[in-house]
Amino acid sequence: MAQRLSSKILIATILGIGFGLSWFYLKRVLNLEWIDTYLIHGVMDVVGQAFLRLLKMVVVPLILFSLMLGVLSFKNYQFLGRVSFYTLAFFLLSTVVAASFGLLVGSMVNFSVTHQDVASQAFDLKTQPPSIKSTILNIIPVNPFQSLVEGNTLQIIFIALIFGFLISRQNDLVRSRWEKGLNDLNDLFIRFTLWSMSFAPFAVFALLVKTFSELGWDSFVQLARYFLVLAFLLIFYLFGVYGIFLKWVCRFSPIIFFKKFRSVMLFAFSSSSSNATIPVTLDSLIKDFKIPTSIASLVVPLGATINMNGTSIMQAVATTFIAQIYGVELSFIDYVTVVIMATLATVGTAGVPGVGLITLSMVLQQVQLPLEGIAFIMSVDRLLDMIRTVVNVTGDAVASLWVHQKMSKRGSFTDY
Ligand code: ASP
Repeated sequence: MAQRLSSKILIATILGIGFGLSWFYLKRVLNLEWIDTYLIHGVMDVVGQAFLRLLKMVVVPLILFSLMLGVLSFKNYQFLGRVSFYTLAFFLLSTVVAASFGLLVGSMVNFSVTHQDVASQAFDLKTQPPSIKSTILNIIPVNPFQSLVEGNTLQIIFIALIFGFLISRQNDLVRSRWEKGLNDLNDLFIRFTLWSMSFAPFAVFALLVKTFSELGWDSFVQLARYFLVLAFLLIFYLFGVYGIFLKWVCRFSPIIFFKKFRSVMLFAFSSSSSNATIPVTLDSLIKDFKIPTSIASLVVPLGATINMNGTSIMQAVATTFIAQIYGVELSFIDYVTVVIMATLATVGTAGVPGVGLITLSMVLQQVQLPLEGIAFIMSVDRLLDMIRTVVNVTGDAVASLWVHQKMSKRGSFTDY
């Protein structure tokens, strides 16, 4: 991403948080309700949401066309198999590591609260988390148009892989016709993303002013330890664990990585959605990190759905926290169950704001903890959601770098 735009997004983030926080406190002493009604919930909300809609608008066509194009560019299908294998291996292992890490730290901390101390919000589990069986079956679309209309990422990936493969089996003439068409379409949507990104500084500012002026800061005091432990773990995982992995395994300077990727991270932070961030992540990986489209277009959309390290850390810590406030002792088997469930829970649920709390109910159910426990942490989850989305999105980028490095090492992957 252009350096100037990236600096503007950084400034917008700082100003957005600053204005949002100031307004949160000022509105208590000033009687200026119209600012809240017209400026914060009116103008700011419209600007932020309009931008998110622009980006969401390109998610489906971008995944479809870029992945089909990616599959077409593979000359040898063993490579596609390898890319998929490395990608899934990375996602699975890193999620298990993240959940175990969250559990380990969470179980050592004394959160020093009981459920009488914490004000719970009305909690209504409207969206039921999907079962494992339906998650697997749901990968296969019954109606491809419905998958596109509903923006079901896993189904779109399935369609792109199968049809990309079938097109590649056609004769050269048909194949090159498709390739040209897909290239033009893909190019158009990338242009659209770049054009939308020019509004990013305003949108990031607007989104953050609204969010920070609304956070229930009082509950942060009651849940201070939970919040701080989790925020610290997420930030540590982001810079420490990914940083070490980048340096020692990918042989890529973490400083350069975070510098180049910072706009995407800021955008993930302000939108709380890995899904809405897909176009920006793809653009940055392809342009700034020179990752081939064939790798990025597979790893990123797949990662936005199934690779959520930040979410797994939250679920692990939240489970230990809820167990503590209800005075429940978790056994070793419970710990293993939490790791498995936190890993499975993220598969098949799209990376959208707050989804981690819904899937947390799957984890709690398995270890027989009351689902109402979720109500206690809801009030501080908005900010934590923003931080964990950054971890989730960064995980997808690190995975792309690693898969690229693995494939390049094999030497023969020259024509992607
Ligand atoms: N908001 C997160 C994401 O989009 C998911 C979550 O709620 O943890 O990646």
